[in-house]
Amino acid sequence: MIPLEELRQFLSTITDPESGRDLVSHGAIRDLKIDEDSVYIELDFASKDAEAKELLRSQIAAAVRKAAANHGLRRIPELDLNFVDVEATPNPLPMVRSVIAVGAGKGGVGKSTVSVHLALALARMGRKVGILDGDIYGPSLPTMLGLQEIPPKIDGNTIIPFEKDGLKIVSIGRLVEPEKALVWRGPMAHGAFRQLALQSDWGELDHLIVDLPPGTGDVPLTLAQLLPLTGAVVVCTPQKVAQDDARRAIRMFQQLGVSILGVVENMAGFTAPDGTTIDLFGRGGAEDMAASMSLPFLGRLPIHPELAARGDAGDPASCHELEALGDALKTLGDAFDHRVRMAERGEDRPTLVIR
Ligand code: ADP
Repeated sequence: MIPLEELRQFLSTITDPESGRDLVSHGAIRDLKIDEDSVYIELDFASKDAEAKELLRSQIAAAVRKAAANHGLRRIPELDLNFVDVEATPNPLPMVRSVIAVGAGKGGVGKSTVSVHLALALARMGRKVGILDGDIYGPSLPTMLGLQEIPPKIDGNTIIPFEKDGLKIVSIGRLVEPEKALVWRGPMAHGAFRQLALQSDWGELDHLIVDLPPGTGDVPLTLAQLLPLTGAVVVCTPQKVAQDDARRAIRMFQQLGVSILGVVENMAGFTAPDGTTIDLFGRGGAEDMAASMSLPFLGRLPIHPELAARGDAGDPASCHELEALGDALKTLGDAFDHRVRMAERGEDRPTLVIR
């Protein structure tokens, strides 16, 4: 079987006639599945130009042949190529103004904590905000938002979101036994995520924040195919190793054609009760990384015992009222809101200056 990355590499040498960029970096490939006998590709291509389509088809078929030969395969898998016009595809959540993904290169960096506080910050501005626990392998929102005691509501095939602290919340954690979700892979994860996103009664929302699983697995791909994303936030701790992982997550979003709203540095420094600040994991690493990738830096959250304690107690909202955290959360929330509004207006795309 041709390895996915190998085929992607060959496909990245083909120019998309609509954008003038290569198919991979432009995010034109909406779906790519490979098995022993076939290669399934869904390509975002709006033009009706039959000649351009035929040229692309023959270039992609050649890429499949090259990748198969490169891999020493005797049988060339059959190419199942489908052109889709993503812009013309109806939005499955028309009452949701913007969908924002929160990702991280690896687990434990505080992605869920940041997702929740960004969502709370927007809700505190009076917006209608939903949060989808897309971390289906390790859902933490039920604990973090104190949902364990509230019975989940399902109406026929529709999931009724929990409502807490001004947020509408949907999490797989309350719908299946957590141990089951852990072993989900590929198609099951895809199916579960799809149902959570589309079969929930979100109603009218200004923003839907999606807390993704860490890393670069199936769920981000499913999300990018399923919903028009306003952008993604990537959470990172200050250490060098964390930045390398975060870079991979950023590249994944970019390959999926999702713009990066910004990078958040979490666990940046700890202020002891006597007022001295200790930078346990260093400081500024995520900001440097964002700058080196020409991405906005949204801000940093310190390590603070109350962020952990109130998260564990299911009461993160009260952190926004604390003297020690309120300002940091507000500053981060304002920077996030600024980028979200820019992206909603379509102003986040970098302007290419050709000299
Ligand atoms: P992830 O979603 O990346 O796996 P979580 O948001 O679940 O990470 O955070 C992991 C743990 O670290 C949680 O117990 C959380 O309360 C704690 N935590 C996250 N960020 C901070 C912080 N800035 N200060 C203190 N504890 C934090």
